[in-house]
Amino acid sequence: MAPSVGTSADVEVEAAPVSAKYTKLFIDGQFVDALSGKTFDTLDPRNGELIAKVAEADKEDVDLAVQAARKAFDEGPWPRLSGYERGRILFKYADILEQHADELAALETLDNGKPVQYARQLDVAGAVRIMRIFAGYADKISGRSVKMDGSYQGYTLHEPIGVVGQIIPWNFPLVMFATKVSPALACGNTVILKPAEQTPLTALYAAHLATEVGLPPGVLNVLPGFGPTAGAAIASHIGIDKVSFTGSTEVGRKIMIAAANSNLKPVTLELGGKSPLIILDDADLDLAVQLSYMAIFFNQGQVCCAGSRIFVQEGIYDAFLKKSIELAKQRVIGDPFKGGVEHGPLVDQLQLKTVMGYIESGKEEGANLVIGGNQIGSKGYYVEPTIFADVQDNMKIAKEEIFGPVMSVFKFKSVEEIIQRANNTNYGLAAGIVTKNIDLANRFSRSIRAGIIWINCYHIVDPSLPFGGYKMSGIGRENGEYVLQNYLQVKAVVTPLYDSPWL
Ligand code: NAD
Repeated sequence: MAPSVGTSADVEVEAAPVSAKYTKLFIDGQFVDALSGKTFDTLDPRNGELIAKVAEADKEDVDLAVQAARKAFDEGPWPRLSGYERGRILFKYADILEQHADELAALETLDNGKPVQYARQLDVAGAVRIMRIFAGYADKISGRSVKMDGSYQGYTLHEPIGVVGQIIPWNFPLVMFATKVSPALACGNTVILKPAEQTPLTALYAAHLATEVGLPPGVLNVLPGFGPTAGAAIASHIGIDKVSFTGSTEVGRKIMIAAANSNLKPVTLELGGKSPLIILDDADLDLAVQLSYMAIFFNQGQVCCAGSRIFVQEGIYDAFLKKSIELAKQRVIGDPFKGGVEHGPLVDQLQLKTVMGYIESGKEEGANLVIGGNQIGSKGYYVEPTIFADVQDNMKIAKEEIFGPVMSVFKFKSVEEIIQRANNTNYGLAAGIVTKNIDLANRFSRSIRAGIIWINCYHIVDPSLPFGGYKMSGIGRENGEYVLQNYLQVKAVVTPLYDSPWL
């Protein structure tokens, strides 16, 4: 039986249906040991046991990967292929990822702890879709022709930027892999990607699949390792032309400094959030409760755009709270490999400690803990779905990103007040509003300073739409046509025209 909220028995887990096959660095089309010979442990979040020892990249390995990626860029076929040919290979890559969906989903669950039903339906399916969307863009990248004064013709070339460094977090490892590499490769760049140290396995598996679709050696390199060593070496490398980072705001700042202090490489940053979900008195109550539940508990709350501040107007506040507590009680917690389980463990011991620390701080600062608040069992990193009511804007849990299954509910009176309070944060990644009033929804969409606004829905992210942050949630956009700008240089070419009929 899966434990429900309020029990503290250990979650029973079964043997994992998958093992880690690819655990070395992937450089120049080969799996190799780290030059130092060092490895690190990747652990099963269900019980903290070892899954595999993974090669640990450091600065010297990054140097080797840069050499391979530079050679592939300067001399290899990839940037010189037509967009159509690059797209064809990326479509094949998407197909082969899809063919390995079951194994990739199981590996994601094993490494990250997310329920396998979501890993399969959302993570792997999402990664495949992202790859296909950018495969489709590969042959649609083109410059413009400009008619100039006098007898000159100008035009622009959209060229790949070069060797791209990409650093990703652990909450959606395969989706992040696809989000980063697909547009970069579609534009003709070569890539060095560092997965998070907590979850290196699906990126390595995907690297293996790249060898089967004809991606030339050196075009994609995957280097598992730690942030202050391998990650920092990527951000500061003089041979890397661009860095794209997804992770915390704190590390994003370090990436930007390292990029500036080395070769001024451009950066794209996708960072943290403290996103408001605003529920007005006229909202459909059941919809509001469902959306809030999903906004904060999906992926155990480990989502950058999680609805981590739920503002409820005073007229429906009590009814909202009652129904939200009932729904949280029904959440199915358990071994993420079991069918029907909605809520698995957090990713690791550190995340467990951080989330439990925030729950303690909420209690100490006087927020009203109405359900949950405990670790489940002593093995693995399970935390109960937790709800704090009557949260005040100046509390730590109201200001900082918790990144766990902790709902904070705030009461508000007026529309004017709530626009100001929703914007009273350093972050600006996402926001939601639940109302039947279209005029208010329009007003909110324009007043809230965030990269995406969900009206009567939440967590609807589509690779065709841009995604990114205002304020300290980031710089630049991922997804949609907008992301291509991150991976292209624009060159203007001017030439005289002779005997043109248009002069
Ligand atoms: P993190 O910033 O600790 O780590 C992210 C990555 O950066 C990891 O690969 C890590 O090894 C690396 N890293 C750490 N220190 C580094 C350094 N000094 N130099 C270079 N690289 C370094 O973040 P995390 O804990 O893995 O992920 C959670 C954070 O990511 C949250 O803040 C979340 O909001 C954010 N996130 C944002 C988005 C988005 O699209 N905006 C998406 C997912 C996660």
